[in-house]
Amino acid sequence: MKFNPEKYSIPDEPMKPFIDAEEIWGYINNTIPTPERVREIIAKSLSKRRLNLEEVAVLVNTTDAGLIEEIKEGARTLKRTIYGNRIVLFAPLYIGNYCTNNCTYCGFRISNTREIRKTLNDKEIVSEIETLEDDGQKRLILVFGEHSLYSPEFIAHAVKLAYTVKKGNGEIRRVNINAAPLDIEGFKTVKASGIGTYQVFQETYHPEAYKTYHLAGRKADYNYRLTALDRAQEAGIDDVGIGALFGLYDWRFEVLGLVRHANHLEACYNVGPHTISFPRVKNASMLDIDRSYFVSDSDFTKLVAILRLAVPYTGMILTAREPAQLRNEIFQFGVSQIDGGTNIELGGYSDKQDAENDINKGQFQINDDRPLDEIVNELLDQDLIPSFCTACYRLGRTGEHFMEFSVPGFIKRYCTPNAILTLSEYLVDYAPETTAGKGWEVINKNIEKLDDEALKSSIREKILQIKSGKRDLYF
Ligand code: SAM
Ligand code: SF4
Repeated sequence: MKFNPEKYSIPDEPMKPFIDAEEIWGYINNTIPTPERVREIIAKSLSKRRLNLEEVAVLVNTTDAGLIEEIKEGARTLKRTIYGNRIVLFAPLYIGNYCTNNCTYCGFRISNTREIRKTLNDKEIVSEIETLEDDGQKRLILVFGEHSLYSPEFIAHAVKLAYTVKKGNGEIRRVNINAAPLDIEGFKTVKASGIGTYQVFQETYHPEAYKTYHLAGRKADYNYRLTALDRAQEAGIDDVGIGALFGLYDWRFEVLGLVRHANHLEACYNVGPHTISFPRVKNASMLDIDRSYFVSDSDFTKLVAILRLAVPYTGMILTAREPAQLRNEIFQFGVSQIDGGTNIELGGYSDKQDAENDINKGQFQINDDRPLDEIVNELLDQDLIPSFCTACYRLGRTGEHFMEFSVPGFIKRYCTPNAILTLSEYLVDYAPETTAGKGWEVINKNIEKLDDEALKSSIREKILQIKSGKRDLYF
């Protein structure tokens, strides 16, 4: 029987589920990746048009090595020609790992009796943030298990506290959240504390697979989680982050699920997700799950390139779950944010005594524990500009990824100059001499590349101000 997409499509309505597993499988099972079709689709994305599910299905079905290379080259081109060459840096900060859910892949799950449980108190939060500021961090994501301890008021308190911590020239200018889905009132409370992005990952978009991994607690309810970011939008949070945990189900299905989610948010709220995350399952305390859906490195690089082409105006986050070498390669595929200097143990940043990596203290094992400065160096070596920019968020320019993508000259006018200014602060305040030498070279090269003379001299003027002690300058 011929596949008829019309038969399946669930209409997009706010706060209503929108995933039809048969529809997604229908696309995957009924598309053939001929070279002509694959090239047409890459060209469509490069002409700045979002891909539909059928087109994404063609890309995920592509297995020919030459065509896969063309997909990756498409992602690199999109990055170079549209996004410019900066990558924004952030650090995760785990606040508490008590959890009433039982997600079989996670070290924090309630049934894991080996996990060492802890919630940071105010003093510990301040100490962690001071250590992060001493490293040069300006952007955080606070992470929480799901527990009544972590009420919206508690989360809001942690956010407000984070903004008050100032050490030397250090300060936190943007706090994002990765925590359990809330109701609309809860999201309103958290929004009022001044958060940036609220992330909720669906983990797997396949409803039946979802059931097998989420055995207890609020998170066992697939639809409550699926509609979480609709509630965030209803509460006025228009900066939301979606994600899938790759390794739980067929990766091709998850890629289409993510795209479907992005389309849903766009259809209902006129704004797509701010970011997409694509974590892969990593080893965790007492991890005991079936590995048959684990994603190989080569499929992983392919899927990141496909996501870049599929949702061209969404930020993409690549975390320290992945090993350094792989991260270094994937940076070029249009990743817009990465963490650096990451430590996911509760209290791990300030507790230097306890350098030993104990799997029972974290949620999972990270594979890139390079200090922030090493990551900055790697980016500079790749001719990328490490950025700590928070300008759009603070000027109320929400939807900046959309603007970057659709407003001609936006990146040259705002993103590149602001990346340069925040990197300048880092070089003056925190970088060792070798990094600083490299950094100023990259900065000068990038200023030269701009074609607006007035802008060039304005950036140079601001750099002089930074060198003489001014901070937090942006366009
Ligand atoms: N408790 C909140 C929740 O579940 O939404 C916050 C999320 S959790 C602290 C952050 C994310 O880590 C999860 O959404 C999941 O995708 C990811 N994660 C959990 N276990 C993992 C593992 N073993 N390897 C890699 N990522 C994992
Ligand atoms: Fe708890 Fe989140 Fe881990 Fe699930 S993924 S056990 S909800 S911390």
